[in-house]
Amino acid sequence: MKNIKDYNLDELKEEIKELGEKPFRAEQIFKWLFVDKVKSFDEMTNISLELREKLKQNYNICNFEIIKKQESVDGTKKYLFGLSDENAIESVLMEYHFGKSVCVSSQIGCKMGCKFCASTGIPFIRNLTSGEIVEQIIAIEQDIGDKISNVVFMGIGEPMDNYENVINAIKILNNPKGLNIGARHISVSTSGIVPKIYDFADKNIQCTLSISLHSANNKVRSSMMPVNNAYNIEELIKACKYYIKKTNKRISFEYALAKDNNDNIKDADELIKLLKGMLCHVNLIPINKIENGKYTKSSLENIIKFRDYLNANGITATIRRELGADIDAACGQLRRKKLGGNI
Ligand code: SAH
Repeated sequence: MKNIKDYNLDELKEEIKELGEKPFRAEQIFKWLFVDKVKSFDEMTNISLELREKLKQNYNICNFEIIKKQESVDGTKKYLFGLSDENAIESVLMEYHFGKSVCVSSQIGCKMGCKFCASTGIPFIRNLTSGEIVEQIIAIEQDIGDKISNVVFMGIGEPMDNYENVINAIKILNNPKGLNIGARHISVSTSGIVPKIYDFADKNIQCTLSISLHSANNKVRSSMMPVNNAYNIEELIKACKYYIKKTNKRISFEYALAKDNNDNIKDADELIKLLKGMLCHVNLIPINKIENGKYTKSSLENIIKFRDYLNANGITATIRRELGADIDAACGQLRRKKLGGNI
């Protein structure tokens, strides 16, 4: 049975029409699901008993169970959610001065195989549905009794490898009649699946696009990210330039600094040459060491030097504040977890 939260409002109208009902019923149901956040059809009190029965026969309502919740000293919370099958995923809630931000997972596992990421080496299981992506925000809003203002697709998975569901989840999150999270408050991060970047540009979705670049040198990047063998830096930057031209939006490049790997001034020089003149911003992240990982953090002194050098050479760069490192909730630390244990 399909999860009724998988449909955006237009699709839900079609579904409801097929049940022989008027489209405004879809608006009522949408509000129950995404504003009132009810957990059952019986709570939809302005819907007739007859229609509620039909809904029950055709759909279920996905509600996540919180299996585990960990809180960091900085207030960051990591949730382990149990899905309706035996799977589980992680999401992270971060508090900033501008509001509350949730880092969502888009897949159960990841196929990209980035060498520095904790999701690597764990088998890929399946894509999350749109409803399961959205449910991460709903479950956290309910748990904290507050609104989420920002969503970043930086949890487990490659959003552009589950493109249709991610786009649909954005439509659901965006809808003013539902969760009402503005596109400008949503960031999609990709390891660089080039054809999808073109499509994203053409769709003109007003979200922020983040690119996990990590090196301006093909040899170094390929050694960190196998996706670079499929789409190299030149192809990636070409797609980014197309995106900027099409949307007039700034791209955010993620650059995780690993000691003696991509953190020297010569690496910064290559980066400056690559990004010069582009409407972009560089987000420097101290790489988080993962179990058995070969990369270690660049020193803070070196990261500051790297940032200042970029800024002095016309590339806007900032160092990302690390949140939740003590509960393994920082960048690249999320793993698919099985009920009852780590894998
Ligand atoms: N697959 C997407 C989104 C998930 S990863 C992507 O690659 O962009 C979210 C961000 O965390 C990416 O920028 C990724 O490169 C970064 N990241 C992964 N592992 C990391 C680690 N160990 N330390 C720091 N950043 C890491």
